[in-house]
Amino acid sequence: MIPYGRQSIDDDDIAAVVEVLRGDMLTGGPAVVRFEAALAKAVEAPHAIACSNGTAALHLAVLALGFGPGDVIVVPTLTFLATANVVRMVGAEVLFADVDPNSGLLTPQTLQDTLTEFSGKGTVRAVIPVHLNGQSCAMPEIAAIAAENDLIVIEDACHALGGAQVDDGRRAAVGATAWSSMACFSFHPVKAIAMGEGGAVTTRDPDLARRIMQLRNHGMTRNPSDFTQQEQAFDEDAQANPWYYEMPDVGFNYRACDLQCALGDSQLRKLPAFLDRRRALASRYDELLTGRRNSLRPVPRAASENDGWHLYPVLIDFAGLGISRAEVMGRLQKAGIGTQVHYIPVHRQPYYRALYPELKLPGADAYYERCLSLPLFPSMSDEDVDKVVNALCDVLAAVN
Ligand SMILES: *Cc1c(COP(=O)(O)O)cnc(C)c1O
Repeated sequence: MIPYGRQSIDDDDIAAVVEVLRGDMLTGGPAVVRFEAALAKAVEAPHAIACSNGTAALHLAVLALGFGPGDVIVVPTLTFLATANVVRMVGAEVLFADVDPNSGLLTPQTLQDTLTEFSGKGTVRAVIPVHLNGQSCAMPEIAAIAAENDLIVIEDACHALGGAQVDDGRRAAVGATAWSSMACFSFHPVKAIAMGEGGAVTTRDPDLARRIMQLRNHGMTRNPSDFTQQEQAFDEDAQANPWYYEMPDVGFNYRACDLQCALGDSQLRKLPAFLDRRRALASRYDELLTGRRNSLRPVPRAASENDGWHLYPVLIDFAGLGISRAEVMGRLQKAGIGTQVHYIPVHRQPYYRALYPELKLPGADAYYERCLSLPLFPSMSDEDVDKVVNALCDVLAAVN
């Protein structure tokens, strides 16, 4: 069976985790600090805060900005549930934006259209562009629109670790937050590197970094300069009491433990090799699929070297072919090939339909109706790619 995605774990990853197990600190120890430093370096950001998963990372980002009821945050509807859910978790409103029907990305145009249509109906505070499949949204243009409209930009970079963003020859790593306040990552096993469960927020802003670290740990601080209750915090010699901590705001336990971070650190060292392999596999798919059938084409991607290549989706004209996507997936499954659909537009979920009825987002619908993610992961062989392409073409040829 070739799954649509899977982790690549070697003996040195296992050894890194075992070393933590044999040591003194299973959580709150040096592996967390090491991983955060390595991640910050890898994405060229001054601050990286590790946390328990990508959803926690997004939630922390929205919490750190202090958003709540009355605030409105733009989220492209073609994403995983979590991007929109974190907005609801702080009590803010989701303003769903449409996406390009072929790339699935939020574009400067779809963002502008969303803002124009909403104008006068509320205060839009932020936008969360999603770098779907590993391909970055047009960040310089999106940042310009955000600046004109006083929006803060939080990147959902869960698909895009290792990618880059460019503007007039300037190249910034995804996560460097060159055109945003924060970027959020997931290290779920199907993503670019695996931590079992894991995530991170990266930022250039030291105040946001501090707030996120505090919110990740119950909202508490042990930093004496933050203490406000003098008589409880300090003894007669103005020394902070050794047991003392303060909680100015309610927070969460969103920490990542040393086991997760040791694995993340070890995996991060292989990220360049993983990406090379993902790119090579993607260009093999491109070569084999291009011009093969009119009803089947890869999702257009701008520049391979800037892409995180999380997923390899193709667009298939199921309606025109007269075969359902479920039937195609079922036949591929029988041939030993796993596929997946990324994603059901979030505004179609019952929870969001009840909140925001009447929404029409035709770009997202057109993408969703046609998309199918083919297997893509570093340990795939070239022959696996050939097998997937042949099986898919056979299935589609059989219906016309
Ligand atoms: C994976 C993912 C998330 C959530 O990450 P978890 O680690 O699973 O919580 C959020 N957004 C996108 C786009 C994702 O792909």
